Formats: sequence, structure tokens, C-alpha cells
Amino acid sequence: CGIVAYVGNREALPLILKGLKRLEYRGYDSSGVALLEDAKLNIYKKKGKVSDLEHELAGKNLTATIGIGHTRWATHGEPNDVNAHPHFSNNRRLSIIHNGIIENYASIKQNLIKKGHVFLSDTDTEVLIHFIEDIHLATAGSLESAVKLALKEVVGAYAIVVMSVDHPGQLIAARKGSPLVIGVGEDEFFFASDATPIIEYTKDVVYLDDYEVAIIKDGKLSIQNLDNTETIPYIQKLEMEL
Ligand code: GLU
Repeated sequence: CGIVAYVGNREALPLILKGLKRLEYRGYDSSGVALLEDAKLNIYKKKGKVSDLEHELAGKNLTATIGIGHTRWATHGEPNDVNAHPHFSNNRRLSIIHNGIIENYASIKQNLIKKGHVFLSDTDTEVLIHFIEDIHLATAGSLESAVKLALKEVVGAYAIVVMSVDHPGQLIAARKGSPLVIGVGEDEFFFASDATPIIEYTKDVVYLDDYEVAIIKDGKLSIQNLDNTETIPYIQKLEMEL
């Protein structure tokens, strides 16, 4: 339902929580964040309001400068802490937030279970991140290639952001049929499902198109389609007021 992600020099957690609150008007049943710090993914998820998540996080020393956050509107699996996003891969090194529905998740899940994958949630989203992991380990290519290969097999609608323990400073996002906006700051980048969480930090935004993948790597944004053709990001000025 709602997506907020950040990579840069600020503390990610307060920024993500604030952004998720700005997206509350869309409705949701649970929320969660994943923060990457000291080569470790810290994931917190909670049924209920963003304020419930915030309560859970109070007093923790979480100073990561890269993270992803989500408010969920359940489509596959009841609203509870485990089904809330972010979800993570079998080896717990990849995490994902996702808006939309992966329609062919059941058949992909069956295949992955045969390969030994263990699923903790009832969501379609968890299947997608295990699928990306499986392709990544099998092909030994880049993480963005694995994301693209997985998305080529997916039927459904999605806006996703993927974060990996093994690629600090890197975020990979993609969309088909579900909106995703990229805020381009100075040495920092924002992702959100609409511009409201971004506007207070930068007015320079790129709207991702269907079948496009946005990669933040080495402090730079690149946009490619699923067949690896690179497009030049078209930066627009936001005109909305806070
Ligand atoms: N289909 C996903 C789920 O049920 C994402 C729902 C959403 O867009 O929030 O977890």
C-alpha cells in the first residue's frame, strides 16, 4: 500500500516513519521497516498503526542511513506482524517492500519449496524475494540482473524496493501498474509510492514507468528496462505544497 525508502547521509528511521505517516491517508493494516547497519538487517514489523511500530522502536539505537519502510494493505495472508513487510530471503540477506499483487506466486512458491526454501509468511511478497534470491544465487550475476530476471516471470502488479546486506548503499526499485516516485537529492535518494513523503526534502523527482528498474549504486541513479536498456532519468520539479 505505502512505500518509503531512503539512502543517503541522514538517519533513515525517523525519515521513513514520518513518510509512512504521510501515507496513512491511503489506509493500511500494519507497517514495518528494515534498516541496514554494520552489515546487518534490522527488521521490525507490527500490526496496527505506524504509531504502534514507533512505540516498539522507541529507545532503540538505530542510526542506519539506508532503509526501507512499508504500510501494508493485506491481499494475501491476514494482517499480522509476520505478514507485514519488509519480507526477507531464505538466507536473510535480501529484504523487500512491495505494493500490489504477484498473481502467479503459488506456482513459484511450490518450486522454491522443492528447492528447500522455507517461508514464514502467507504473502505473495515473500515469494518474490525468495525468487530473486534463488535466481541471484543460480546466475552469479548482479543483484539488479536477478531482480530483472525475476520480474520477467512475474504476473501481476508491483512497486518494489529491494535492499541487500551484501550491497550497502544500494537500493533497487521497480514498478508495473503501481506508482513509484524517486526523489533525487544531493548525495541522497528517496523512494515513495507518492510524492508526499519526499516533498520536504527535495523537489526533484523521477516518476518510474512500468517495466523500469531504478538502481542506486555508488551514489548514482540509473534506470534500465527489464531488457537492460538504459534510459536517462527525466527529472521533474514537484510543484505541490506541503
Ligand atoms: N500483496 C502484498 C501483501 O498482501 C502487498 C499488499 C499491499 O499493497 O500493501 O502483503
